[in-house]
Amino acid sequence: MSIDFVEALSTDNLTAIRAAPKTDVHSHSFLSTRRENAERWLGHPLTKPPLKMKGLEGMMEYIDAALAPHLDHRQGFEFIAGSAIRDAIQDGVVRLEMSFDIRLLKFYPEGLPELLTSIEALVERYREQVDLRPELGFARECANDPKWMKLAHQAIELEFFQSIDLYSHEEACAPEAVQSLYAKAREVGMKLKAHVGEFGGAEEVRRTVEVLDLDEVQHGIGAAESVEVMR
Ligand SMILES: [Zn+2]
Repeated sequence: MSIDFVEALSTDNLTAIRAAPKTDVHSHSFLSTRRENAERWLGHPLTKPPLKMKGLEGMMEYIDAALAPHLDHRQGFEFIAGSAIRDAIQDGVVRLEMSFDIRLLKFYPEGLPELLTSIEALVERYREQVDLRPELGFARECANDPKWMKLAHQAIELEFFQSIDLYSHEEACAPEAVQSLYAKAREVGMKLKAHVGEFGGAEEVRRTVEVLDLDEVQHGIGAAESVEVMR
């Protein structure tokens, strides 16, 4: 099948956009399936999100109120992650860098080996259809908690995750707070990413790229303030 992807985009040809093989470098496992799939699995409807949310805080409030009570457990997570992978496959994604938040360990009493076994099972189950590359997800507020910091270091040492991503409120931690984590990730050959410039400006994007030696910036729209930072 030959597809002109630019043409498909400019003509809103969703079928052709779907059919083109793609890489998704920004997927949060626990938030990446369609709501309808979770409703079918649960057997009941979920509250719909408001048309407009008040920033990240508003999104988190919606998740806490409408989704978490039904899905915030091991079975819920494992369903959502599998369903998100199936959605990606249907959307023509052939390589998927999906992040798994370190706090998922709260569902796995046996710790990292048990979580990694569960992720590895997803990689194996969908291997024929998609190159799933597990990414370690780290929320900025966890940088202040020695417990999550230690577990993230241990996760990197296991050389299982192929990339790392930092996210959540930009003011929750400065890039320096996770510099040692990122240096370790670099040592074992991981791809380094962070959400920045999602809320903050161009200088914050520059600083974070430099301090963490980033390969990729997620969002990064704040960089548009500065021609130099864009370059
Ligand atoms: Zn994101």
